[in-house]
Amino acid sequence: MSTVLILGAGMVGVSTALALRADGHDVVLIDRREPGRETSYGNAGIIQAEAVEPYALPRDIPSLVRIALGRGNDVRYQLAALPGQAQALWGYFRASRRDRHRAISAAYAPMIRRSTTDHQALIAEAGAERLIRRDGFYQIYRSAAALDASSREVERLATTYGVGAETLDARQLERREPALRPGLAGAVRWADPWTCRDPGGLVTAYAELFQRRGGRCEVGDATTLQPAGAGWSVSTQSGRIEAEHAVIALGPWSPDLLRRFGYRFPMVYKRGYHRHFANTGGLAITLHDPDYGMVVSPMEAGVRVATGAELARRDAPATPRQLDRAAAMARQLTELGDPVEAEAWMGRRPCLPGMLPFVGLLPRHRTLWGNFGHGHQGFTLGPTTGRLLADRMAGKP
Ligand SMILES: Cc1cc2nc3c(=O)[nH]c(=O)nc-3n(C[C@H](O)[C@H](O)[C@H](O)COP(=O)(O)OP(=O)(O)OC[C@H]3O[C@@H](n4cnc5c(N)ncnc54)[C@H](O)[C@@H]3O)c2cc1C
Repeated sequence: MSTVLILGAGMVGVSTALALRADGHDVVLIDRREPGRETSYGNAGIIQAEAVEPYALPRDIPSLVRIALGRGNDVRYQLAALPGQAQALWGYFRASRRDRHRAISAAYAPMIRRSTTDHQALIAEAGAERLIRRDGFYQIYRSAAALDASSREVERLATTYGVGAETLDARQLERREPALRPGLAGAVRWADPWTCRDPGGLVTAYAELFQRRGGRCEVGDATTLQPAGAGWSVSTQSGRIEAEHAVIALGPWSPDLLRRFGYRFPMVYKRGYHRHFANTGGLAITLHDPDYGMVVSPMEAGVRVATGAELARRDAPATPRQLDRAAAMARQLTELGDPVEAEAWMGRRPCLPGMLPFVGLLPRHRTLWGNFGHGHQGFTLGPTTGRLLADRMAGKP
């Protein structure tokens, strides 16, 4: 068995560490912060067993005009970001063509469909059951026409991939979810996904499990990674650590480090915001509102309102206007109290142009691996691509 450094302790890095440890490797997990404090902390907390097709960019003219004019709230952009991400965006746009998107989905769906099973083993052993709900989430609609169109799409996904869902009209929805305000046309309830009441807490629980199983967590800076003999070394607060293999699992920061080793990975940074509000309406189940590109999730900290995509430079200052609009629309769905925090949280979905994460050996190295680029579904896919990476290291196909 080998020694392995994992750089980045988000959902992806921690899950990879667990998989490699389960295979008997001596694993050190390194992050500049505590595990699960970045993107894997602030997401909407859905283990998205229904997201069998990755989110494509719209290609029809009316949708593109709507985005260009800043009319919708689901996708917004900052002009200054476009030149720096043009290559990645163009690749993403090309990958969104129907035939290409179908081929990508054929690879994506099997990973997504096993995601809850892969999480389950870790949830049970980490003692994290109290954080998980298994009753899916609602995708709500304000108009009967939109609900109708969505039901047809649900049927297609059910037939193609076996995804479980039911459509509820306004009366059925009101009866089932008294915390929702009346006036909606209805909802699709996705039955297969699970939701988490504290995504950062789940990563912490997985990291503690990793340590109980003999893994080591260290605070260190991934940018100090250097070749050392046949392997790698990195600086940590406990000194320099050497290992035979290194895995880059730095989410949105992965391309920076890879550039130093001769790799260019163009990335689209779809930034997103959240803020918690007191759950005065008693909301018990997660809502997705596709009209306004937001997710409203009951969490331990309060109701988390999370936004859609903001195409901006990764490190540009936060501009949480999208969140203000989302919060106003969320108040139309359910009663929300005061904000819990003074400021909004911001994170970046690390999206590769081909919509699939990179999982495996970096082609010009023999001991440098990558597990990054999970876009909209890294919280879902961490345990699955962690297992896939460990299998690759074991020489399995
Ligand atoms: C608003 C929003 C909602 C979302 N909702 C969902 C959802 O409902 N379901 C879902 O599946 N996904 C969701 N996502 C996507 C998901 O959160 C990400 O795909 C996932 O968290 C990526 O995990 P990761 O481990 O790759 O990255 P991260 O969680 O960002 O982890 C990367 C780690 O690298 C560390 N790091 C960076 N630089 C260095 C360095 N120099 N040295 C040491 N450490 C370093 C960071 O500290 C961090 O801990 C959402 C994302 C957003 C923004």
